[in-house]
Amino acid sequence: MNIEKKLIDPFGREVNYLRVSVTDRCDFRCTYCMSENMQFLPKKDILTLEEIEDICNCFINLGTKKIRLTGGEPLVRKGVFQLISSLGKKIGNGLEEITITTNGSQLEKTASELYDCGVRRINVSLDHLNEKKFREITRWGDLSKVLSGIKKAKKCGIKIKINTVALQNFNQDHLLDMIEWCSDEGHDMTIIEVMPMGDIGSENRFYQYLPLSKVRKIIENKYKLIDIPKKTGGPARYVRIPEKNMDLGFITPLTHNFCESCNRVRLTCTGILYMCLGQNDNADLKTILREKGSLALEKELYSAIARKPKGHDFEISRKSENISVNRHMSMTGG
Ligand code: SAM
Ligand code: SF4
Repeated sequence: MNIEKKLIDPFGREVNYLRVSVTDRCDFRCTYCMSENMQFLPKKDILTLEEIEDICNCFINLGTKKIRLTGGEPLVRKGVFQLISSLGKKIGNGLEEITITTNGSQLEKTASELYDCGVRRINVSLDHLNEKKFREITRWGDLSKVLSGIKKAKKCGIKIKINTVALQNFNQDHLLDMIEWCSDEGHDMTIIEVMPMGDIGSENRFYQYLPLSKVRKIIENKYKLIDIPKKTGGPARYVRIPEKNMDLGFITPLTHNFCESCNRVRLTCTGILYMCLGQNDNADLKTILREKGSLALEKELYSAIARKPKGHDFEISRKSENISVNRHMSMTGG
């Protein structure tokens, strides 16, 4: 790798973290993420696994240290292990880490292969530990399958972080139980504020939205929380819960802007690069790749990063339609 080459945005932030949505499809239909009758994209619009690899390689040559595969559900994409294995071979050779964000449904059968490919940390999204409530929020999910997948991954030596979206009238009274469970199981945990992304059908985000300032108060009623300066290269801010011997992350795009230290960009499964999760400016890498070949990508990446905005403008209110960007998280890659 040419160590001189780096992607630096106009605000001096080095972009060295790429998130890739490998598919818009999913075997769940979480109510805050998708509508029940999602229309998925035709195959021809989706990057092939080889195209994703070409784009990832270009990023790695320009200083990307970490790649996270997400979706949709990344582990339901046919042949995805071809990509995971190729990227795994780059670890220690430009790339430092490859991680996955998953709903956990496929983990039981894939965890050991993930480990063999070099994956050492994953994020598993889990919003409730009660089977009925889990089914209510995911519409199609099976909690027992997810829990056995998590167990298997842990057994294989993969460190797990549980991502929980805080949802009003759904899990605010259950978050303490989830903290207990994570602490007992030795999992890290991050609580996320719901973001206004994409049409989710009849659900109204205003009634789902639970500010994490409220969540913090709920947790503080039981535990002493100590703010700590921990940095994981992501947008989370951390508190220590000494009684539980664990650190808890908060991702608060709405109550607290998390953009100042942003080091990441996102590639959709259609090959569109978004320089900010909450803005619409983008670069069409698929067209460049298909029309001009992979050598033209590098120039396009420099030009895209030169347009990376300072931050997002998310807002959730009773009046607005509560869609700040008209694309789903599953397409952009959460
Ligand atoms: N299917 C995988 C999963 O659920 O982990 C990966 C993709 S999912 C889009 C990635 C993360 O985005 C999940 O943790 C999910 O809870 C979160 N997410 C989806 N829609 C969201 C929204 N509107 N606001 C906040 N988080 C959201
Ligand atoms: Fe699927 Fe993840 Fe979206 Fe749930 S949050 S519907 S699991 S992509």
